[in-house]
Amino acid sequence: MDITYRLEQKRQVLKDFPGPKSLELAARRAASVAKGVASTVPVYVADADGGIIHDVDGNSFIDFGSGIAVTTVGASDAAVVGAVKEQVEHFTHTCFMVSPYEGYVAVAEKLNQLTPGEHEKRTVLFNSGAEAVENAVKIARVATGRNAVVAFDHAYHGRTNLTMGLTAKAMPYKYGFGPFASEIYRVPMSYPFREENPQITGKEAAERAILMIQKQIGSDQVAAIIIEPVQGEGGFIVPAEGFLPRIAEFAKENGIVFIADEVQSGFCRTGEWFAVQHEGVVPDLITTAKGIAGGMPLSAVTGRAELLDAVHGGGLGGTYGGNPVACAAALAAIETMETQDLRGRAREIESIVKGRLGTLRDELGDGIIGDLRGRGGMLAIEFVKKGSAGTTKQPDAEVTKKIADYCLKEGVIILTCGTYGNVIRLLPPLVIGDELLADGLDVLEAAIRANS
Ligand SMILES: *Cc1c(COP(=O)(O)O)cnc(C)c1O
Repeated sequence: MDITYRLEQKRQVLKDFPGPKSLELAARRAASVAKGVASTVPVYVADADGGIIHDVDGNSFIDFGSGIAVTTVGASDAAVVGAVKEQVEHFTHTCFMVSPYEGYVAVAEKLNQLTPGEHEKRTVLFNSGAEAVENAVKIARVATGRNAVVAFDHAYHGRTNLTMGLTAKAMPYKYGFGPFASEIYRVPMSYPFREENPQITGKEAAERAILMIQKQIGSDQVAAIIIEPVQGEGGFIVPAEGFLPRIAEFAKENGIVFIADEVQSGFCRTGEWFAVQHEGVVPDLITTAKGIAGGMPLSAVTGRAELLDAVHGGGLGGTYGGNPVACAAALAAIETMETQDLRGRAREIESIVKGRLGTLRDELGDGIIGDLRGRGGMLAIEFVKKGSAGTTKQPDAEVTKKIADYCLKEGVIILTCGTYGNVIRLLPPLVIGDELLADGLDVLEAAIRANS
C-alpha cells in the first residue's frame, strides 16, 4: 500500500465532546429530522480521509466502521474525488433508461469480469443494497417461474418491504412495519459458535436447512435461495466450511437460483473480491453495493446472462440506477482496490487484529470474549457473560455497549451488531495505516480490559 493522506492520520479528542458546534447541530436535527433515524456518534462530520474522521469542533476519530463497510478506499480517495469532479462537470444525470452513457456499461463490464465464474454474465445497476436484493429476487422469479424465496436465520437484506421480509431481526428493522411480502421462508444458518452440537459440520448444517426446504416448501417451488456468505448485521457470522458449497450445490441440482448477497462482504472486504471465493462458490446472481463506489450510492445485480436476460425489456431499471457520477466513482474505487492491492491489505488487517485480540482472549481466560471471527477487514468479537464462553454462551449486550462507548469516548468509532446485540464489528477502511490501526486496537483492548 502506498497512500498519501490529505488529513493527518492521528486520533485526538477533547475530554468533553460533543463540542458546541455539534450540540447546535444536534438541536437543529432534533427539530427537523425524523426520530426514527438514529446515529452511532453524537458529533457531526467536517472532513474524512484514510482512517480518520474530523468533526466540526476539531476532534479527530479513528474510523473502525467505514460508514458501514462503504468507504473501503477511504472517504475521499484521490482517484474517486478526481473521477467524480470530472464527471459532474459534464453531466450529473440523463437517466440510463432515456439516454445511456459509457460509465454504466464500463461498470457492468468490470463487475462481469470481477465476479466469480467464467460463464457469460450481465449486470444491472441500482442505488441501494436493498434495491439490488429486490431486483435479484424479481429476476429469479421471472427466470424460474417460481415464487418461493429462502432466507436464513440472522439474515439482513435491507429495509424495503420485500427485504424486510427477508431480514430476520424484528427490532429495529421490522417491528411494526408489516405486513410483509409472502412466499418468504426462513431456514437455519450455520453459526459455529452457537450450534447446539458443536461438532456439526458445515455440510450437516446445510443438510439441516435443505431438509426444511424439501419438507416445508418443496424444492421445485423455490425460485431463489439468498444468503450473505459472511452475515453482516446478524453478527459477522462465518458459516462452517462446507456449508455454502453444499447449499449452492443443492440449488444447482434443483433449478434454484443461488443469490449471494455480497452487499457488505464484497469488494475486497474479506480479503477476496467476494466472500464466496474463500470456498470457491460460484453464485448464479450476486448483489453488491456498499464498498462498490467509494461512498457514492450505487448497487448492482450481476450474474448468469440467461437469468438476467430472461426479464422482458423495460422490466428492470429505475430513475437514478447507475447514476453517471456513481459509476465514475465505482470505476475509480475499483482501480484503487487493484493498484493498492486492498485484498492483500484486508488479509494483513485480519492477521494484525486476530493476532492481538487472540492474545488478549487467551490472557483473559474464560472471560467475556466468547468468539473472535471474521475474514479480512470484516472482523468481530462476540461478547458473553463472564465465565459462560465455554458453557452457556450467554450473550452480553450490556458489556458490548459499554466497550463501544468506552472506545468512542477515547476517539474510536466502533459499530455493534448481532441478533443478540453482543457483537463488536471492525470494518476499518482498508487504506488505514498500521500505526492508526494499532492505536485504535490499543483503545479497544483497554476497553475490553476495563470491562472484564
Ligand atoms: C446493508 C446491506 C443491505 C442493504 O443495503 P442498503 O444500501 O442499506 O439498502 C443488504 N444486504 C446486506 C448484506 C447488507 O449488509
